[in-house]
Amino acid sequence: MSIKVGISACLLGQEVRYNGSHKRSRYIQEVLSEYFEYSPLCPEMGIGLGVPRKPIRLITTSGNNETGIEAALTEDHSVRYTEQLKDYARQQVDHLSDASGYLFMQKSPSCGFTRVKLYHENGNPLEVSQGIYAAELDKLLPLMPKEEAGRLSDPMIRENFITRVMAYHDWQHNVADKLSAQTLLGFHVRYKYLLMAHHIKSYQSLGKLLSNLKAQPLGDIAHQYITEFMSALKHIANRKKNSNVLQHLQGYLKKELSKDEKQEMHNLIHQYRTGLIPIVVPLTLLKHHINKHTTDDNYLRKQKYLNPHPYELGLRNAI
Ligand code: SF4
Repeated sequence: MSIKVGISACLLGQEVRYNGSHKRSRYIQEVLSEYFEYSPLCPEMGIGLGVPRKPIRLITTSGNNETGIEAALTEDHSVRYTEQLKDYARQQVDHLSDASGYLFMQKSPSCGFTRVKLYHENGNPLEVSQGIYAAELDKLLPLMPKEEAGRLSDPMIRENFITRVMAYHDWQHNVADKLSAQTLLGFHVRYKYLLMAHHIKSYQSLGKLLSNLKAQPLGDIAHQYITEFMSALKHIANRKKNSNVLQHLQGYLKKELSKDEKQEMHNLIHQYRTGLIPIVVPLTLLKHHINKHTTDDNYLRKQKYLNPHPYELGLRNAI
């Protein structure tokens, strides 16, 4: 499986930073590359700034820029790159339309996605913002999952991002490319319990949305569906929500499991919920019971919740 993911070029070891260095990430280059086919882009190089170049920063302005935030030379705020960086993002839309995710370099005034320092025109630091290129790309490709490389060191954020990439890839290839009532409903069936684990309100409202496919044109329903779905997955599936889903799934096997097996499952879910063990422990036992007591085409076996990303990444060993 190869999944296209856009990425800040410096994260792959390309020496494109203002001072000619890179920010290679071993995890991204050596581990995730088994599954992701990277599309490296450096917006600052893309707008013609060479290496080495003078550093830029985000400043607030009183001008007529839409957000009041501009990218400017650190040493001379009158030299601005905002429109060039936005244009560069616009130029990448076609190239990235089949990408299933994007990994940004943190803190960059171009690529940073969450906490980039913003300065007053007089040079005083003010607050945090998004890099110009990253913010524009988010506006143009809102469904595509995006994350900063530095945040992947948090196991919950890492697992969340990779879950979103895998789910979006599934949507692009199995629903968006061949939209029909069947492909849309099939997707919803696969993701029901994953949705429940991330955001129960969306689990309910999306079920309702699909209950009458004649109410609106199918394309409109699909757009509403995936917009809310991708936003729902941004919510972290915490121990409480995951325990709830594990109990629901165990409930399907109430006739098949003995009293002792049920008690064992119950104990492991409780230990997971209280933080003693990672989710992989109750989940492995649950999968064992599902495989033992159901056939290949069983509803439970279709649940992406059981295998939302490659097992080899070990993402659920750490959460
Ligand atoms: S953070 Fe973005 S703009 Fe800066 S060097 Fe890396 S890819 Fe280029």
